[in-house]
Amino acid sequence: MSKQFNLAIVGLGGMGNWHRETIGRIDNLNVCGSFDIKEERQQFAIDHGITPYNSLEELLADEKVDIVLCSTPNHLHKEIVIKALRAGKNVVCEKPVTLSSKDLQEMIDVAEETKKVFVVHQNRRWDEDFLTMKKIYDDNLLGDVFKIESRVHGSRGIPGDWRQEPEFGGGMVLDWGVHILDQALLMIDSKVKTVYANFTHVTNELVDDGFTVVLTFENGIVYTLEVGTSNFINLPRWYMLGRDGTAIIYDWQKNGKVTRITDWSKNDAVPIRTAAGLTKTMAPRTADTIKDEELPIVKSDIRDFYRNVMATIEGKEEIIVKNTQVMRVMKLMEAIFDSAAKNQVIDFE
Ligand code: NAD
Repeated sequence: MSKQFNLAIVGLGGMGNWHRETIGRIDNLNVCGSFDIKEERQQFAIDHGITPYNSLEELLADEKVDIVLCSTPNHLHKEIVIKALRAGKNVVCEKPVTLSSKDLQEMIDVAEETKKVFVVHQNRRWDEDFLTMKKIYDDNLLGDVFKIESRVHGSRGIPGDWRQEPEFGGGMVLDWGVHILDQALLMIDSKVKTVYANFTHVTNELVDDGFTVVLTFENGIVYTLEVGTSNFINLPRWYMLGRDGTAIIYDWQKNGKVTRITDWSKNDAVPIRTAAGLTKTMAPRTADTIKDEELPIVKSDIRDFYRNVMATIEGKEEIIVKNTQVMRVMKLMEAIFDSAAKNQVIDFE
């Protein structure tokens, strides 16, 4: 029989509620209470069968709480996480863990001192589109990969909440960037040599409402990451180019394909003619020299995040989302802000 764990939620907003629902599908984990500064969210807890605590202090003083989830706006994570660790709790913190590598180091130091599990919810590691592209890369399906593009595109502008304010840790680098950068560093086992970034400010002047980042890895791969919030037509979620093939995933539904070369010898092309010219270079390959294949879809279960957290607390597993990895992403985001401010390529590792 697995040990039963009790988790208390600090900040029962959109994402806090996602955790509540997800934990409801995990046998040995139970949401035992929550605290939110908004009265309506305290009432929401009651309406969903959760006892709200009257304060953070009351939540932290409750001995039955094994794990505290911090899902407040970004600028509050550091203080809440440190308080929870010092109260003897294990802590799951939403991304971005905090706003600087200096703050993160303080949080890691307290976790080490208190010997409690402190883990960041980098849940997009369980995205099946990412895992599928990672498999294509790991299995060398495309031959030597030289270029990867990872994009998320929306068309609603930056959300109208705390995400618009720099002091609350707003902006898309900290919001979506942290996910797709984490994925990039997990996929490519090589140092990031240089970083170049530029930001968009279409719907907001104060924080980035979109960005393009180009990472050049030591192994030669050029990895472009892009977040947009004013894209009325989306570019594909993933595009990966190898010497022997190309892979594409268009959307969240994982529509896409792998196209691989079958015959290098037939290289002749029927030229493409347009009114103003002719090209052989850009003429598509003939069907007998390439083959389209289905994506090797990798399945995942996001509940494995919490299963790993609980097994780590029990000393049975090693934590999947490591704080050294989270720190590397945090430092990379700092290099991105630096690059965008200076409009310069920054040396990284
Ligand atoms: P939200 O605004 O919907 O919810 C935040 C909640 O925190 C609100 O209900 C607010 O009242 C409450 N709050 C604010 N200050 C508080 C305090 N001092 N004590 C207790 N509660 C407090 O925001 P959200 O979209 O749920 O985002 C919350 C966190 O989750 C952010 O860090 C965000 O980046 C993260 N997030 C992660 C994902 C993911 O996929 N991992 C997705 C969305 C949001």
